[in-house]
Amino acid sequence: MPELPEVETVRRGLQPVLEGAVVLAVTLARPALRYPFPERFVERLAGRRILGLGRRSKYLLWEIEGGETLLAHLGMSGSFRIEGLGAPGSQTSPGAFALARSRDVRHDHVRFELKGGATVVYNDPRRFGFMDLLPTTDLERHPRLAGLGIEPTSNAFAAATLAAFADRRTPLKAALLDQAVVTGLGNIYVCEALWRAGLDPRRPASVLADQNEAEKLASAIRAVIAEAIEAGGSTLRDHMRTDGTLGYFQHRFAVYNREGEPCQRPGCDGTVLRIRQSGRSTFFCPSCQR
Ligand SMILES: [Zn+2]
Repeated sequence: MPELPEVETVRRGLQPVLEGAVVLAVTLARPALRYPFPERFVERLAGRRILGLGRRSKYLLWEIEGGETLLAHLGMSGSFRIEGLGAPGSQTSPGAFALARSRDVRHDHVRFELKGGATVVYNDPRRFGFMDLLPTTDLERHPRLAGLGIEPTSNAFAAATLAAFADRRTPLKAALLDQAVVTGLGNIYVCEALWRAGLDPRRPASVLADQNEAEKLASAIRAVIAEAIEAGGSTLRDHMRTDGTLGYFQHRFAVYNREGEPCQRPGCDGTVLRIRQSGRSTFFCPSCQR
């Protein structure tokens, strides 16, 4: 499952192509991805201009002229590919993913042909992704968006946000995965942020009642997300020249997927441990995360 930084790099890669572009035609290779496409999906998009490309949590939001928004989720294996820009035959897939994306055209499910020659293709081998199209005014009530918490990339996110956990006895790890308080944090970046903050993922979330701990964790979350987006952005600029983004995010992880490796914190001689929490792997250093 792509995490927030990956989705944000996809958004930034698509933005220059999609924003302001007019959709000439949309072609669907099948009636459904994870869910059926909304009624008259093709007709409602054809001839319309894309006014802006936003993001809420891990959802891409294409603001369409006429008051509708296309909501797109990449699922487990979804990616976009841009064709017809630059040199003939060239293509690019915006975003840097921890797992490789498919380039197999048999998994191309949606083609958006744009005025001016570019085509944006949605590819998704496992088809857990989906698209919806709804009035922009209904967006906040969409079942996937209603009840989502604060974006860790927004100015509204602060230590005070984490104070919502002050009376929770669930482990820090599980609390941070709860999308109703902070949205968009997945398994990888929760592990990374807790390591950065020096907090043991098994401690009760009520530790965040302590202002210092909440401040430390809030700035760790901000930093790991911002650095991952920045790293993804830098691969994006080179994307036309390099084809492999595989593993790009992985080598930046301090603890995630590093079981048995020495802790990277200067002065710490601990070893990264992997445990199970809420059915997911947690990676942490028992020596410096307390
Ligand atoms: Zn350590």
